Amino acid sequence: MLDYDVVLVGAGPGCLTAGLYASRSELKVVAIEKMVPGGQIANTHLVEDYPGFEHIGGAELAKKFEDHARKFGLEIVNDNVVEIYIEGRYRVVKTDYETYRAKAVIVGTGGHPRHLGVPGELELAGRGVSYCAVCDGAFFKGVPIAVSGGGDSAVEEGLYLTKFGSRVYIIHRRDELRAAKIIQDRAFKNEKIEFIWDSVIEKINGLTKVDSITVKNIKTNERREIEVGAVFPFIGFVPNSDIFREAVRRDSLGYIITDENMETSIKGVWAIGDVRKQLVKQITNAVGDGTTAALAAFKYIEAWDD
Ligand code: NAP
Repeated sequence: MLDYDVVLVGAGPGCLTAGLYASRSELKVVAIEKMVPGGQIANTHLVEDYPGFEHIGGAELAKKFEDHARKFGLEIVNDNVVEIYIEGRYRVVKTDYETYRAKAVIVGTGGHPRHLGVPGELELAGRGVSYCAVCDGAFFKGVPIAVSGGGDSAVEEGLYLTKFGSRVYIIHRRDELRAAKIIQDRAFKNEKIEFIWDSVIEKINGLTKVDSITVKNIKTNERREIEVGAVFPFIGFVPNSDIFREAVRRDSLGYIITDENMETSIKGVWAIGDVRKQLVKQITNAVGDGTTAALAAFKYIEAWDD
């Protein structure tokens, strides 16, 4: 059993910020991350909405967050958290390889991409179906690419994929986008992007790789097959909130409900960033949440022996 003041579950922007504040307050802090530090931004091509940086590569910003937090003493380990539970006054975080005991736990586990749930999606995952444009876009130079969704992710990543694809079809189930206006305007001006409105991908076709998609217009029920070499579903997000032994308060979609100090219904456990129920999911929110949670946890630990 390893003892820490604070265990951070995740190392996205929220946890790295919490790590910076908590380490700087002389607490013993570790962040446990199963992927790479930086979370989703590490796989984001370009960030244009983090104050102070007009545009910066996602991986570069992630590295800056990481380096800054490490400078104040944050430890980061690569491991997978399987369970969080209460043991007397302590909170225990169990991973594949270790057990950590902490006075305070801050959960910033984010979420994972929602799947389309259509035939061909699982079978062709990694063979043309991908949820990460930055990771896989370059494999599809000169071939037509399909993107599903109408939010910020679909349109931003669709724009990025025009660097590679001969054409990028953005298939959206309605006739207007949810994405921010500035991103929409950019996409409407891009000659490589073709929007297919009121439509969904019904099937992804191919044996050993993606050859085409079957698209259905949900207003007319018309179907057509479109030749593509890759499919990138960006249809939202499912929070990673299934790691608690004791029940934690969540909404119907699985987002963790916190108070204004980011504390969950389990005392001594805070939730921050995209896994937390809140209006928007932005890097700036995660960073703010991380700050609040770390300083709240600091106060909680200060009062530990009172
Ligand atoms: P999102 O905003 O929830 O958008 C999901 C999109 O997928 C929506 O257009 C939705 O259609 C569509 N959709 C959902 N389920 C579907 C299904 N089963 N079949 C077909 N289409 C489906 O998700 P997101 O774009 O991943 O963004 C997640 C959060 O991160 C948002 O808060 C977003 O603002 C934020 N984000 C921000 C930035 C940025 O600021 N630069 C970049 C990326 C993400 P409807 O529109 O009809 O609901």
